[in-house]
Amino acid sequence: MSETFSQLLLKWYALKGRDLPWRYKGGAHPDPYVVLVSELMLQQTTVKTVLSYFDKFIARFPNVESLASASIEEVYLYWQGLGYYTRARSLHQSAKMIVNDFHGCFPCRKEDVLKLKGLGPYTVASFLALAFNQPETVVDGNVIRIMARLYHMTKPTDEIISEIFHKAEKLTDKENSADYASAIMDLGATICTPKKPLCEQCPIAVYCLSKNSDDVDQIPIRKKIEKKHMEGYVYIIRNKNGDVFIRKRSEKGLLHGLYEFPWSEKNIFPDAEMTQKTVSHIFTHIHMNLKICYLKAEDFAVDGFFVEEKKLSNYAFSTLMKKVMKTIGLER
Ligand code: SF4
Repeated sequence: MSETFSQLLLKWYALKGRDLPWRYKGGAHPDPYVVLVSELMLQQTTVKTVLSYFDKFIARFPNVESLASASIEEVYLYWQGLGYYTRARSLHQSAKMIVNDFHGCFPCRKEDVLKLKGLGPYTVASFLALAFNQPETVVDGNVIRIMARLYHMTKPTDEIISEIFHKAEKLTDKENSADYASAIMDLGATICTPKKPLCEQCPIAVYCLSKNSDDVDQIPIRKKIEKKHMEGYVYIIRNKNGDVFIRKRSEKGLLHGLYEFPWSEKNIFPDAEMTQKTVSHIFTHIHMNLKICYLKAEDFAVDGFFVEEKKLSNYAFSTLMKKVMKTIGLER
């Protein structure tokens, strides 16, 4: 083999790697802010989904100062639809820390980056590699899959995860870590895909022990996580003016800080009119079905307030509540 693993990978990346707005081919991205925003957005969310939000977010908050000085409500408005709103809150808090504690200069030492909010070891490594070309090894789901296939590792991933990290670390090109991190993630996203990997087009096939093997689709081996099913009721409550009742979720817990229509696992308003309409949504480990119910009321013992229907768009709602609105044709 004349060319090394990373040489083959980087050559392929230069020609076929994806052009993404938070990417800079040929080294570190000149704007760490753009990298930080993308890293938070990409946690548990696909590139395709992030692409439809990223430009609008950057247009409204073009730098760390503009984000730090915005209200969290406005940040949520630009985040709504991306889900996992804790990330938006973390990004906002991190922006404030960078402005206040680091005088607007992005930290580039690992111990400082770790102080920012919402950044786990993976995101920190990725941020340092992509924003500062630091010699970090980035291990996400794509890299785990590629390493497991490269060495034909057929034990469950959680049993071999440290071995995978070790192998990934040994292969990382420490001098070109920004491009290497992007390249290996692109390889996993476009060539070494979870199903039907394109081994014939793979630039590192010569190093791969799983190339065209019958079981390649099954590697890496993962334990199946059972999703919990939850049934409930969501209430569209109108007063005599036709305004709609909404409430803000508590500052802690699932979907905190977002607005919603009251909902519950139990039918808390027995007088409500049940419809045949239901809305389904999948959170990380929960499969939720909500039956839509209508109710007329002026005042009752639930915290919240009535809003004109046309003003609902001033409030950030979760994806689940947006599905409710879409199902019943509420104006947005
Ligand atoms: S040869 Fe096939 S299985 Fe191996 S890394 Fe490439 S795409 Fe994945």
